[in-house]
Amino acid sequence: MQPPRKKCIVCGSRRYSLRYPFKPGSIWRCRTCGMMMLWPRPSEDQLRSLYDAHYYKNPSQSDDPNGELVGYMDYLRDKPLRQIDLRRVLRMVRTFLHVRSGAAPSLLEIGSGLGFLLEEARRHGYDVEGVEISRFACEYMRREYDFPVHLGDLAEVQPLRESYDVCFMLDLIEHLLSPRKTLARVSQLLRPGGLCVLGTMDCDSFVSRMLGKRMEDFRRIREHMFFFNRRTIRMFLEQFGLDVLFVRSFGLTFELGPLMDRLGLTFPGAFRRIRALIHPSSLLGKRLYVNPGVKILVIARRNRRV
Ligand SMILES: [Zn+2]
Repeated sequence: MQPPRKKCIVCGSRRYSLRYPFKPGSIWRCRTCGMMMLWPRPSEDQLRSLYDAHYYKNPSQSDDPNGELVGYMDYLRDKPLRQIDLRRVLRMVRTFLHVRSGAAPSLLEIGSGLGFLLEEARRHGYDVEGVEISRFACEYMRREYDFPVHLGDLAEVQPLRESYDVCFMLDLIEHLLSPRKTLARVSQLLRPGGLCVLGTMDCDSFVSRMLGKRMEDFRRIREHMFFFNRRTIRMFLEQFGLDVLFVRSFGLTFELGPLMDRLGLTFPGAFRRIRALIHPSSLLGKRLYVNPGVKILVIARRNRRV
């Protein structure tokens, strides 16, 4: 297995050690800063073709606890749950956002998926706009909503405004082939004092280290290219004039039944047996908020220095 041929996107080093072997790409760790990355990586075309209808509804996930995973079992089914979580994020963002009273804050989301955040943010009074690389997702949003959505990579689309109050990138940065290119553009598009809100997994959280190769995020070797921790995400954003104000772990709301199915991807057998023991079965629809400390939410403010 050959180590990455490219410089570390955070510190520029070329010294790597193998962390989790997979095929065709493995996960490597930068020996200087701790940034982790997939190598070799898929091509731009392979990545673009991945995000089709099947990606958003893919119930046939691997039974092997070390096997690769792709997409979501049923992304749309979880919409009401994701919106509970997104409302929590929007409330946090609001405490950091200063806008002229009466003006609707402008929000650009990169990687809008099926538009859950944009819809919720609009309800919270934002003037919203999305960028999405998946043709399937983009067409879905254009059918469902009337806010503007651009199809393509941030570098190739022309947003409607010159600058924004907030740019959102939730569960996006790990999917990018060139996070540096995207962050440079985000920094350009944020007004001084504007906020970059980013959610990603923490590759060094307790649970990430404990599960290692079994971790869902690491097994997504067709879609996850880069893995930050609390320190490397801060180092990275600072290079683009973004001062980190806040890094906090955040969880997701689940219904008990689908949560058991999800845990079954990591511990096959155990959680399927537990699920079968739950009576009455109406309990499987109970909602609970679960925060294993794996995902981090980062809020950074665009400074005036760049
Ligand atoms: Zn590094």
